[in-house]
Amino acid sequence: MEEEINIDPWRMAIKQLDKVGKILNIDENILKRLRYPVRIIETNFPVVMDDGRVEIFTGFRVHHNENLPNKGGIRYSPDVTKEEVMALAFWMTFKCAIVGLPYSGAKGGVICNPRELSVKELEKITRRYTHQMINVFNPRSDIPAPDINTSAREMAWIYDTYSMWGGHSALGVVTGKPVELGGSLGRASATGRGVFFITRQALQKLGIPMEGVTIAVQGFGNVGSWFARIIAEHGAKVVAVSDWKGGIYNENGFDVEDLYKYVFENPENENKSVTGYTKITKEITNEELFGLEVDILAPCAIESVITKYNAENVKAKIIAEGANGPTTPGADEILMKNNVLVLPDILANAGGVTVSYFEWVQGNDALFWTEEEVNSKLEEIMTRAFDSVFEYADECCTQDMRTAAYAIALERLVKQYELRGIYP
Ligand code: NAD
Repeated sequence: MEEEINIDPWRMAIKQLDKVGKILNIDENILKRLRYPVRIIETNFPVVMDDGRVEIFTGFRVHHNENLPNKGGIRYSPDVTKEEVMALAFWMTFKCAIVGLPYSGAKGGVICNPRELSVKELEKITRRYTHQMINVFNPRSDIPAPDINTSAREMAWIYDTYSMWGGHSALGVVTGKPVELGGSLGRASATGRGVFFITRQALQKLGIPMEGVTIAVQGFGNVGSWFARIIAEHGAKVVAVSDWKGGIYNENGFDVEDLYKYVFENPENENKSVTGYTKITKEITNEELFGLEVDILAPCAIESVITKYNAENVKAKIIAEGANGPTTPGADEILMKNNVLVLPDILANAGGVTVSYFEWVQGNDALFWTEEEVNSKLEEIMTRAFDSVFEYADECCTQDMRTAAYAIALERLVKQYELRGIYP
């Protein structure tokens, strides 16, 4: 029991790797290299707080491997650990391989609680963290992006700090920037839209019509809110939503646009939480959300929320993993046994890094695309990736989409390692 509850994301990632490595009989010399991040940078840096106190913050940047330029978001949370950042960088490697992007995985994190920090303090933390990484971030080798509790605002500060240090505007150094500063149209919605495309394909395969399909979403931040908005626009019924403060339920389905306005466009909602929204049937807890009678469950918040202790309660037919690492290996086994189709994170939420890649390409070329172009290129890539994973799962892994996704990625990664060899 202890082991599953306390399973850290890094051990979880390695377990997933070893399972597929064994199935595919992958060369142990390559598996060994995949089991170690090539670079872990840890930094402790001071920031003068609004009240004059000096606070020390700890930040990380991890490069999983260096076959290709490194790409991955930056997370701000009191729960950030080195192991978590290592796992997130590892998953980025696999994600980029599945959708065929020319990147290796990276991830960053700063241990801090944005809810207890002023905007000024957040700006100082972001700028100083960027300074600590001034020789690490680089348009050609390490390109950060947003993740939990970071957004276009933080990316603008990173872009500015890095550019001031370099003496020129480095459009390609960070993605997820505001559109006014060389960000891509469609980047803000990209991860949620990608989760939508993958879910839509899965519904089609299972012969379930989109109209009226019921959905419960954990997390109403960037990923969860966009996923909910887009799928509701296509006729689905979002009946439950939760976040760090709690959850809400309405069996008739929410007006998601109205809920979005309540959360993000309401100055009185300081915590940007769904709680307190009045057009509901009842309040629910995060734990209750996982056991609801719905067709689709979309964990879009944090890791390790579906474990072997609550997986039996899941009644959904599909789990769409908007978040990274929401399902533990123990839960995976139970969900497989119960015929729940899990759309794995490394496939389902790859839309974010895909449009980040588009942003990087556009920024490097200084030539920008329309939102329609971005969305249709994203749709093409996500649909193709889904089809290849679904077919592979059909042939090899009795509908185990996670194993199939890992297998496809791993085959591509093995080629990368073989072709580059080991220097010197
Ligand atoms: P966000 O900060 O915009 O939103 C996070 C949401 O999760 C918020 O609603 C928050 O209240 C909720 N949350 C936080 N802790 C919670 C808890 N303990 N219980 C329930 N809800 C909780 O973050 P995001 O960018 O939407 O990222 C969400 C997940 O998606 C993360 O796992 C992230 O790594 C993953 N992801 C994000 C992107 C991206 O482009 N932003 C891309 C791929 C994957």
